[in-house]
Amino acid sequence: MQQKTIKQLLVNAHNIPLDELLEQLGARENGLTSGDVNQRRAQFGANVLVVKKSKPEMFKFLLQFKNYFAVLLLIGSLLAFLAENIDPAQGNIYIAYALLSVVFLNATFTYLQERHNEHIMESFQDMLPQMVNVLRDNKTVNIKAVDVVVGDILLLDEGDRVCADARLLEHNQLKVDMSSLTGESEPQLRDLQPSDKNLLKSRNMVLSGTLVQSGNGKAVICATGMNTQFGQVIKLTKETEQTETPIRKELRHFIRIIGLIAIVLGVSFFLISVAMGKGQIASLIFAIGIIVANVPEGLLPTVTLSLSMASQRMAKKNALIKSLESVETLGSTTVICTDKTGTLTQNKISVSCVVLNNQIFSSQDRNILAQAGHHQLFEIMTLCNNAHMINIGYSGDPTEVALLSYIEGLFGRETDRLDNRISELPFDSVTKRMITINKIDQQSNYRALLKGAPETVLAKCSLYFDSGESKPLTDSSRLTILNNFKKLALRGERVLAFASKTISTPELNNETEFVFIGLVGMIDPARPEVPDAIKRCHDAGIKLIMITGDYGITADAIARQIGLIKGEGCIIIGDELSQMSANELSTLLSKPEIIFARTSPEQKLQIVNALQQQGEVVCVTGDGVNDAPALKNADIGVAMGITGTDVAKEASNMVLMDDNFATIVSAVEEGRTIFENIKKFIAYILTSNVPEILPFIAYVVLDFPLALTIVLILAIDLGTDVIPALGLGTERSESDVMKRPPRPRAERLLSRNMLIMSYGIVGMLQAFAGFFSFFVVLLNGGWQWGEALANNDILYRTAVTAFFASIIICQIADVIICRTRRQSLFTVGFLSNRLVLLGIASELSLLALISYHPVANEFFATQPLQVWQLLLSVPFAILIILGDEIRRYFVRRENSFVLKWLTW
Ligand code: ADP
Ligand code: MG
Repeated sequence: MQQKTIKQLLVNAHNIPLDELLEQLGARENGLTSGDVNQRRAQFGANVLVVKKSKPEMFKFLLQFKNYFAVLLLIGSLLAFLAENIDPAQGNIYIAYALLSVVFLNATFTYLQERHNEHIMESFQDMLPQMVNVLRDNKTVNIKAVDVVVGDILLLDEGDRVCADARLLEHNQLKVDMSSLTGESEPQLRDLQPSDKNLLKSRNMVLSGTLVQSGNGKAVICATGMNTQFGQVIKLTKETEQTETPIRKELRHFIRIIGLIAIVLGVSFFLISVAMGKGQIASLIFAIGIIVANVPEGLLPTVTLSLSMASQRMAKKNALIKSLESVETLGSTTVICTDKTGTLTQNKISVSCVVLNNQIFSSQDRNILAQAGHHQLFEIMTLCNNAHMINIGYSGDPTEVALLSYIEGLFGRETDRLDNRISELPFDSVTKRMITINKIDQQSNYRALLKGAPETVLAKCSLYFDSGESKPLTDSSRLTILNNFKKLALRGERVLAFASKTISTPELNNETEFVFIGLVGMIDPARPEVPDAIKRCHDAGIKLIMITGDYGITADAIARQIGLIKGEGCIIIGDELSQMSANELSTLLSKPEIIFARTSPEQKLQIVNALQQQGEVVCVTGDGVNDAPALKNADIGVAMGITGTDVAKEASNMVLMDDNFATIVSAVEEGRTIFENIKKFIAYILTSNVPEILPFIAYVVLDFPLALTIVLILAIDLGTDVIPALGLGTERSESDVMKRPPRPRAERLLSRNMLIMSYGIVGMLQAFAGFFSFFVVLLNGGWQWGEALANNDILYRTAVTAFFASIIICQIADVIICRTRRQSLFTVGFLSNRLVLLGIASELSLLALISYHPVANEFFATQPLQVWQLLLSVPFAILIILGDEIRRYFVRRENSFVLKWLTW
């Protein structure tokens, strides 16, 4: 087959007669053979959409120069060039070049980091390959969507993303959401007849990129990859602009404030300096110094690096996040609304007992085979069932698999199933029932087989089957059945009811007058990790709400088993919920222990909205199509990686690879930790700004000799501070991170108290230590107060080196105290963060290099220090460590003054 014929088919695949189409595609209704597949795969390639690169790489690189820091430094460099021009050979040209290279280095590093991040996010996508069911060699196989080829018979089910363009062969109530292609938001019912000249609009087609909203069907693939309608669209459109994430917004806010401080200080002291007669060049250099000192050059790469490390740590714990933004939002979650089946429980459903003729039989009890009515019951169990054999074992809805496995267990062999189904009304969580119509004999007799939630099924019955005969369903027999139902539910069992009736036409005119046959109780054990995870949520001040389609009593029993409900508990039934006013709902939501039972997924959205209106940050889980609105609207939508539909995964921010509730809790912990860690290294980086700025201010205002140089400032910001800051980014969570209430959404990265602590206290101590060392060295060398000092004076250079050394030694103390916000260092251990230790080692080596290596001495204008000169600032460092240990002691004692002013 030629590529060309395929393209021609594309236009009229919906319009030509079906057999003609099948022939042209070389396809058969029962699937291609593996030989066909290999040949087609080789000819047409994989079923992938090649998405164009969003932005040119060069453009992304240039974007790195668009932040305040870069602009400030570029201005600084420009001014230095200017100074060089006016007054050459004063060393200003070095400053100019140094600043330029800083901007370039920084941009390159951040750019590489971001690219790396994109790759990580892409690889996360690869970890979640889309899987589809196709018919090959007359068998259902589950393969990756990239592996389907033209001519494959595609089996579609609720929640699937259609992976290729295909023409329908069969369908049951198939509704498709075409919004990604046509923009129409109403899902459209499909049909077997062509309905439009345009293939895009014809209802007998299902198109790549659209979503199966409900029902199921079978279709033959006519186009894959870029040959699909969706592929054509992609060729034409560009990537949409990415929205800014909250953490980026926070950072921008932070950068803007710090940048503003730098400019205001720089300009005003330039003016003061000129007014005091220091000369314009000297004042300019000094203004550049202030700007450079204020800019935390290493910040951006550090933030990106630590965020991407966090997302990788989360991925290792089975939580794939789709954007870095979500890491941080997770940390502030206040309410988690979780599904029951599969998330809190294992979704390993098995039949525990059967109720027939008002008697309860355990699942192993073969006496049931002697009971009248068991044929009728098993008929429904096997035929009103969409689970199917696949490779090995059954695949499909776990509830239905459980039914087949039960019968297999009784007979000791695979369940026989007649293929006599005429039509199906699929199960969905709103109707809570499934009906099939089957042809049972050569005469025109048909059976309608019904299974579903007991209340629903019972409401459709007028007779019940008892010991071989149908009897009218009276109030008292109804009550007997309901009592059996409750008995099972109280044990936490999921209950299904079965009913059937004989009809004379293949159409079902009404869903009434069924004959009730029996009940089945199923157990779905709780996941072993869940009780502990629930306890951790409670400790962390996170409220848990269970939302389930299951029966209230069943849900309550399970909730108690896992510790989600300990007290009275408040069970809200779906029907009540739909009657409720917004006010009533919010009163109920303020109760501590809530279960929503017999809830339909659409009602999840109502719950999420009500919670958000109360200011909660809501995390909600989901797997089905109908969960999508709630997943999209919640602050964090969490989709199930295993049982989740493609639709749910698409609408969510995070995908749980193991479907496990406990994984959400670890992800929340990771999110909280990362926010704290970013705070920690910002506090650390900010602190050294003070001893960097003050020498310039003191030079103008107090007429001090200039105690620090611009090149040395850069050596700190870009050299010694970097690895310790990274180390803080990897700090393990403090043991109380899940013992505190969630962070208020309004809490900023840069808080008043952080400025008080780092600028006002620790930074001041550092500056003090610096001036102390500086003047002790000067005075000890015979310098007199007020005496002028030349730039190349050895004593002056030694004193500057001593100032520099003090900052480094005090920053070592600073990185030690920044590691914890509340806990004592003795609890976390001095040596527990390797990267911080490596950082300290790097600081000391750089100090040694800059102070003792002759080449460095030349470049940085420094001098070797004697040991006593080096040690002058050590008492200050000790003071910093001890002082903060004491502060944290008071934080833990919840001292109100310390909490108000000295915690960040
Ligand atoms: P959840 O996923 O929260 O447990 P569901 O909406 O899947 O809730 O199920 C709700 C109820 O519908 C179940 O308690 C059961 O009685 C019934 N039910 C579940 N699966 C099926 C099915 N495949 N066919 C018929 N009825 C079902
Ligand atoms: Mg379910």
